[in-house]
Amino acid sequence: MQCPECGKCPVLPAEEVLAGMSEVYMACQDCSPEPNLDKGRPLRELLRDAERRGMRAKAEAPGAARCGSCGKAPLDAVMFEVMLVLQEFGLRNEGDALRSVGTPLIVFGYPLAFPPRLGPRSLIIVGEQLTKEAAEAMTSRIPEIKGVILSRGDVPGLKDYSAGPRENSLLSGCDLRADVVQSIFGELIVYKSQAKIHIEFPRQNAPKMMILEELSFKGRIDEVVDGLAGPGTLGLMCVLSGARRVVLNDAWLPAVRNILLNLEANRKILGIDEIEHPEAPTDAVGQDPVLVARASGACEIEVYHGDLTRLFTRAKPASLCLIDHFPGSRTKELVDACRCCGNVVVI
Ligand SMILES: [Zn+2]
Ligand SMILES: [Zn+2]
Repeated sequence: MQCPECGKCPVLPAEEVLAGMSEVYMACQDCSPEPNLDKGRPLRELLRDAERRGMRAKAEAPGAARCGSCGKAPLDAVMFEVMLVLQEFGLRNEGDALRSVGTPLIVFGYPLAFPPRLGPRSLIIVGEQLTKEAAEAMTSRIPEIKGVILSRGDVPGLKDYSAGPRENSLLSGCDLRADVVQSIFGELIVYKSQAKIHIEFPRQNAPKMMILEELSFKGRIDEVVDGLAGPGTLGLMCVLSGARRVVLNDAWLPAVRNILLNLEANRKILGIDEIEHPEAPTDAVGQDPVLVARASGACEIEVYHGDLTRLFTRAKPASLCLIDHFPGSRTKELVDACRCCGNVVVI
């Protein structure tokens, strides 16, 4: 599979990602000990510490961080290098702490009990006060950096239909990453074009998964509509839980494109035999529902691009409708539009 964002980076099928997951972020026996840098300490003090340990900090400390055997670098060391690039471009100074760089997102998000060791192109940085030049220097000089996203301080996506979509800017590299989503039904890989999709940290016992588990115990996951599906996390987990029919819908085109990629990537795990694409999506923000994919196999899956308030002019209602809305957005109109379904659950 090819990356729909950059056309270059490989997109691995879910079963392959999951098979390698336990080792991908682990140190080897030759790796240096964890640096445990204090994220709140000013850069100037971190540099002084490195010098005290006998390293000419700027020149040697980062290079020395990559393991001679496995080639991986500790997350802290990579963030330190990013900080040096930002300082070089005048975007941070020696008084700023490592924390000011922004949020590091590992390319395969997984609840880790230890700080990750990073291989090539395994980290995406989301931060504020970044420039394209500095971002390009990061992706070209620091092998672990896959992409750099400038955060606009707002959650990307379609929070409110009337206000229109919001996106962060991909300054350099590629923003496609994936989260490992776990529940009692099993594990899925959910790819996300992270500049356009909101960030959710995968964790064990995630509240949304527990809601699905509870619905499943009550025997209510049979026919499901995931009305604001985003990249497809809940709807696809319903497929994995054994639903007979699942409808996924989103108005935001980047989310719908991610759903299509996630159907492909999780094909084997979800028992999908065939995927058809009856109609092509048109606008960035969909209105009247367009049936962009239909998959058959263990479960009948339909993917629509459109406004949820109009979904049931086209799609058949289901016994359960899930509305996983943005925090703080109004849901009354959506719930009213979905009353034709047996049960509407706002998540
Ligand atoms: Zn890519
Ligand atoms: Zn190593």
